[in-house]
Amino acid sequence: RAKRDGRDRVSEFSIEQMRALEERLVLGTHLRDAIRDNELELYYQPQHRAHDHALTGFEALLRWNSHELGLVSPGRFIPVAEALGLMPEIGEWVLDTACRQVRTWLDRGHRDFCVAVNVSAQQLLRPGLVDTVAAALQRQAVPPAMLDIEMTESSLMENVEWIRRTLTGLKALGTLLSLDDFGTGYSSLAYLKQFPIDKLKIDQSFVRGLPTDADDAAIAQAIITLGHQLHMTVAAEGVETQAQTDFLAEMGCDELQGNHLGPALPVREAEAFFSALPKARP
Ligand code: C2E
Ligand code: MG
Ligand code: MG
Ligand code: MG
Repeated sequence: RAKRDGRDRVSEFSIEQMRALEERLVLGTHLRDAIRDNELELYYQPQHRAHDHALTGFEALLRWNSHELGLVSPGRFIPVAEALGLMPEIGEWVLDTACRQVRTWLDRGHRDFCVAVNVSAQQLLRPGLVDTVAAALQRQAVPPAMLDIEMTESSLMENVEWIRRTLTGLKALGTLLSLDDFGTGYSSLAYLKQFPIDKLKIDQSFVRGLPTDADDAAIAQAIITLGHQLHMTVAAEGVETQAQTDFLAEMGCDELQGNHLGPALPVREAEAFFSALPKARP
């Protein structure tokens, strides 16, 4: 049907909005109890050095296994947690859990690895993140350089002076700082100069078309060159094929992460993976 009047469009729009609101209400109701009920879990996705595939560490990724709703992806529940102001509390749980995991692996004799955690814009903007990170590291006696803090470039846009001080504080603790989903945010390159960033993570949308898509190849190469010129490490995420693995290594990308090398795993499987692989020596 070609012809639709304005009222139809308005009601379709409202139904969509209502669905979003309903999802928010349903998820939000259960999410408030998720931490208390032990329903949150961290999965660990391996990160590899590109040139020899040695394991350099893991990225901790949130999973919510709700007894009411089943497995809920972070793409669905993190926006709700942010809207409800629950992200700082969840973020603290993530930091604490990741540090406890590093401690466990250290105690089992593993060495020379990093664990990356994602922090949200809200965590960065709230006072106290540096203290929270310092406390989590101290509680588990984890060397700060074993913790890699990932943030998206869009989360750096607001309140630049505050963010700069927060990142400088984290850097002073000795953690690594990574820019996640690099190339997708609406921000300028100026903050690469202003902020003490150690690593750029090429967003998976630019990895997907490799090696055949000439535009993706140009963007990936440009990010690698830019990062290296600024003395940063460059990682690629969402690596799904051997051809992408080879191509990125050939282009000089330092680290690779993706389902081809290893998906995000529950902690026991990550541990098995960890023990089976040679680790990267600096
Ligand atoms: P991210 O930090 O960019 O994480 C990478 C996402 O790509 C993860 O999705 C991972 O499972 C997925 N992935 C990895 N390899 C491949 C691949 O080869 N192919 C494809 N198609 N996907 C791959 P996930 O676990 O669903 O997480 C989505 C996003 O949720 C994360 O994106 C991150 O922004 C956010 N997130 C996850 N955990 C946390 C957390 O603890 N705190 C915060 N603030 N955000 C988190
Ligand atoms: Mg990440
Ligand atoms: Mg990413
Ligand atoms: Mg992402």
